[in-house]
Amino acid sequence: MTEIERFCHFIREGSEAWGYLIGEEEIKLIKGDPFGEYEVEDPIIALADVKLLPPAKPSKIVAIGLNYRDHAEEVKLKLPEEPLMFLKPSTAVIGPGDSIVIPPMSQRVDYEGELGVVIGKEAKNVSEEDAENYIAGYVCFNDVTARDLQYKDKQWTRAKSFDTFAPMGPFLVKGIEPSDLELTTKLNGTVVQSTRTSQLIFPVKALIAFISQVMTLLPGDVIATGTTSGIGPMQPGDEVTVTIEEVGSLTNPVVKA
Ligand code: MG
Repeated sequence: MTEIERFCHFIREGSEAWGYLIGEEEIKLIKGDPFGEYEVEDPIIALADVKLLPPAKPSKIVAIGLNYRDHAEEVKLKLPEEPLMFLKPSTAVIGPGDSIVIPPMSQRVDYEGELGVVIGKEAKNVSEEDAENYIAGYVCFNDVTARDLQYKDKQWTRAKSFDTFAPMGPFLVKGIEPSDLELTTKLNGTVVQSTRTSQLIFPVKALIAFISQVMTLLPGDVIATGTTSGIGPMQPGDEVTVTIEEVGSLTNPVVKA
């Protein structure tokens, strides 16, 4: 079994840096980043002393709609025969602890807790068998959605793309097996979504194979694998947490624009 490694991206002394976690409270600094070659540096920093950043800088986020049967049922939509893809822009990305901002244009903004797959190297026409080699690691992802605008518009771009609508983190976790992990979303401490990734209709490797037939995936790109049932709205003052077994917990407060 491969060892689990948790990389983090953060602000230290005013500039961006990468490191990996030692235990739960300390970071070992690295020179470079987990997407390429890196050297381990001497300093050990307290996790509490840094401001965590999103653990990837995607050129695009490829999100998958209706990839859990129970969610398709709750929104009364037919299960897709192939993965249903949409894009979220890189400008929507925020990190752990950053605020999700409710835009004035929407009266209903929902959480969607999802497993995020971060791409590690350029991927085009990758086979399922080979997909593993293109994965940098996993993150908790919240596919924040302006539900009223999603139903109003035929295309989902507006509903899915507001700034702050792509929280991810807290860490980039390598070396885990993603096929049967517990995933929960909590709103103000109450569990509102609960599933296992074994319930995904199109699992991680199938998604990489499918998406890479359409577009070239670049290092840092994120695949948001879809949400389960229990979607619901967030209000200013709320706090939302996506927790995935072995991946971690991503918490974000919700504020008014
Ligand atoms: Mg989603």
